[in-house]
Amino acid sequence: MENNTRAPLHIYIESKPGQVFHKDIGWLELKQAESFDVYIKEYKDEKDKLDQKHKSDRKKAYNDYSRKFDEVQKEDKKSDEFIKQNYEKAKAGQVKKETYDANLRKREEGMAARQKQYTELSNEYHKNLETIDKKHDEDVQAAKDKYKSVRWVHQLVGDRRPELTEESFNESVGIGTTAIGFTFDEFLEGGGAVYLEPFWEGTKPQGRYPHGILINAKGKKPEVILGEWTDAQNNKITNPLKFGSSVYLNIYTGALYGNNIQVQLKDKDQVIRIVTLGLTNADDKLFATEYLSNNTEERGKEDIAKQGALFERAVSVHREKRVPGSAKTGYLVEDDNNKYDGKAKGLPNVQKSKFVVYIDPLWETMGGESLEIYPVVYHDKIPGKQKTLQDCILKVHKNAKDEVKVDNSNSNKVVVLSQVETDIAFFHPCQYSLVTGEYNGKKATIFERIKDKYKNEIYYRIVADDKEKPITITIADLKTDHCAFENKPEETHEKKAVTIKNAPSSYKNLNIGKNNISFSVFYPKPTHAQALDMMSLSGVKKYSYPIALSSCAISKPLTVEVLPALYYEVGFKLAAENPFFTGQTKSYTQRKYLGKGGFFNKKNNKKIRKAQSNAREENYKNEKQEVKEGRLSYNQFEVALEWGFNDIKEEALTLSGEHPVLNIIDSAMWVINTISLLSFNKEADEAIAENKNKRPDQVKKRDKKRNAYLAKKNKTLSKIPFKIEIGQPAFAGAVKWSYVASEKEGGEVGTLYEVKFKADPLIEIKGSLDLLFVATKIPYVGQVVQGMTAVADTVGSADDFWNQVVDFFGGGDDYKIQLDIDYYLDLFVSGAFKIEATATKYHTVDGFKENDISPSVEIKFGIECGGSLKAKFGNVYSVEAEFLGSAYAVLNVAKNAETNSLECKYQGLYATVKANIKTDSDNLNSNTEDNDAEPDEKKFLLHDGFAYEFKLD
Ligand SMILES: [Zn+2]
Repeated sequence: MENNTRAPLHIYIESKPGQVFHKDIGWLELKQAESFDVYIKEYKDEKDKLDQKHKSDRKKAYNDYSRKFDEVQKEDKKSDEFIKQNYEKAKAGQVKKETYDANLRKREEGMAARQKQYTELSNEYHKNLETIDKKHDEDVQAAKDKYKSVRWVHQLVGDRRPELTEESFNESVGIGTTAIGFTFDEFLEGGGAVYLEPFWEGTKPQGRYPHGILINAKGKKPEVILGEWTDAQNNKITNPLKFGSSVYLNIYTGALYGNNIQVQLKDKDQVIRIVTLGLTNADDKLFATEYLSNNTEERGKEDIAKQGALFERAVSVHREKRVPGSAKTGYLVEDDNNKYDGKAKGLPNVQKSKFVVYIDPLWETMGGESLEIYPVVYHDKIPGKQKTLQDCILKVHKNAKDEVKVDNSNSNKVVVLSQVETDIAFFHPCQYSLVTGEYNGKKATIFERIKDKYKNEIYYRIVADDKEKPITITIADLKTDHCAFENKPEETHEKKAVTIKNAPSSYKNLNIGKNNISFSVFYPKPTHAQALDMMSLSGVKKYSYPIALSSCAISKPLTVEVLPALYYEVGFKLAAENPFFTGQTKSYTQRKYLGKGGFFNKKNNKKIRKAQSNAREENYKNEKQEVKEGRLSYNQFEVALEWGFNDIKEEALTLSGEHPVLNIIDSAMWVINTISLLSFNKEADEAIAENKNKRPDQVKKRDKKRNAYLAKKNKTLSKIPFKIEIGQPAFAGAVKWSYVASEKEGGEVGTLYEVKFKADPLIEIKGSLDLLFVATKIPYVGQVVQGMTAVADTVGSADDFWNQVVDFFGGGDDYKIQLDIDYYLDLFVSGAFKIEATATKYHTVDGFKENDISPSVEIKFGIECGGSLKAKFGNVYSVEAEFLGSAYAVLNVAKNAETNSLECKYQGLYATVKANIKTDSDNLNSNTEDNDAEPDEKKFLLHDGFAYEFKLD
């Protein structure tokens, strides 16, 4: 008997119109939030029987009562008829009056007796009813009592069927509850499910229908209500924040629980807004960027793991004390680890997406030093599919004092998917959610339900050589316990989860298990002609092996595609040996570079294309264009190509026409030419002309001064380099490409490019004086040079300035300074464009593997000055000093592969002064100890740095 009562319980829902019940999954689908009754089915059945019996007992009692009542009534009727007849007869004299009177008396007596009988019958009936009702109540109570130790699971469901234990009950439903008035709350609308199941205390709930049930409600009005920027205490942020802060963005929603929303953060662009009087698409987009390193200070461009225009985030329910009035709220029971105290604390919760936004310092480049960030939210189910929250603004300013940190991450993930499944169809108990593959010792994740469920087809692509090796595919978590074909043993997924689509003979060494399949694959060595055809991934011939992975919840066709272990290597060079090309051939073919952008060419706008076609025409016109001072242009290079299979070199190939591989070389060439355009050509011509014609006196004067100084130092002018020297360009490189399985995207194959390239120097300049003037013509650099000249001029006029001050206050000659400064100014510039990209690896699916191609240039511009100084401060004391000084600026130009732009960083203007000062010790007490001090070098920042960048595409 004990065993019987302990059989798992079943659930019963009192259905309502509009509800859809999916029996195979055990899922009750509601159109919207609503209330209804839920029972323990066993109790409900028994109670129904008792109710039935109660009804029939009551009916029986009534019938019994009616019958008895009728009998009395019949007697009454008979008596009534008799007396009426008797009366007629008495009236007609047929019956004596005495007899009639006696009969009448008797009738009255009878009536009184029957009245009594009626009362008795009624009393008896009501007493019976009472007994029946009491019995029924007792029976119902006894039925209920059988379930005294019943607990209820009542919980939110995540991305998989609930995994339950005997502790999984919810104390807000009292022990022994046999029926619940259940309410599905509005704040849970959207698709996320609730699971409900009654179970015997101390036993494990079953976690499935007919014992328990999943309930969800899509809701009729999915919406984005409002947004708020808050700190860790959920206070709204109103003050401008520093870059590097991290804050919460709260997007309050309705009927979107369990869904993923996409959020675009934008910076209001004031100038454009004034013109257009509203929000525009021209507002700066702020990207979500995931970095590999959490350290902002040391972060380089190679630390960018992923970047996306949208933040994909989950809508969930959050416990929050303060919520906006329009938000969708409800109560969830606090998890007190089931203290068995029968106390359940309801905590206010709200439907929203709440996520950390890291105010990426990179956004300063995207939107400027002052930002007003607002979100645009995208979801297919909301009206218009998007909503701009223009009142939800976070102010950020470079000089802001406030910093908020709600999280110690210095990164923004691009995608954070909801861990709440809204498509309950995937909850069919016969299901899987993870498929893995293994080939040649490498494991790959081929399918993950949350991420890949809407893909129509899945692929497992591998690269093979000509040796046969096994490939294995496994459904990691196949569950077929309650397959819909349970009653057809031959069709159940227990046996049919993995099937092949082609004839078994086309899969070598085929072995199909309950949840896995393995067979052998290889790729025969291609012929010369095939190798030529397969130089790009789109031309590769693949061997396909179609498979099907089936369950009741989810079924996917899977195709194994085998690609060849081919590789190609191209070497290219200009005026240099090529140490990078590992190929055997030494015969390079000459090619002409036509100013194409290579990989940077894809998104080019009309303007850039026009510039390129002009450059091409120019190249054709000046076929003999030479590399000379100030005019660097590369339009010639030499190239060689070979192919191999399975890491073994096969033979040389001839590059014909416009092969895609030339894109790689073109990319490098295009960057080189763009950099050289930045600094030279027209500007150099202008500068030289101006220097010759307009500034001869200044140049002469400075030469004279310097000659005088140098003569004293026993140096001559000829030792100072005036000539501009430009180093010969030389570069060499090699690109190897092959088809390689992705490490980030399971089952994908991409092209891996291995680039080795070096240009040292590409351009090198050494010079002085006049070249500095050339430098003033370079955009941005010119400002720096002018700043330095101003420093030099100020040094020379310091005494004049001081003496004017003395005169103004009437100090007299005693206080005047004699500052005899004998100085030279030497202006120098040196710089070398160098490009180095050794062992750079780029995979078309995974991105850069090691370092990026990094063309960079560091140009140092500066003034050197030196001299001696004699100063007499009135008649008080004198000072003698020797000094050496320099002021220099460093400009760094580098390519950022992620944003595809050239970044120019001007690192600031510094001055260094090294001085040895002798003072008249008789007159200056305090400085005596300084006389023998070591020269002291000091560094001053005269001018802050700045950075700018321009896009390459
Ligand atoms: Zn099944």
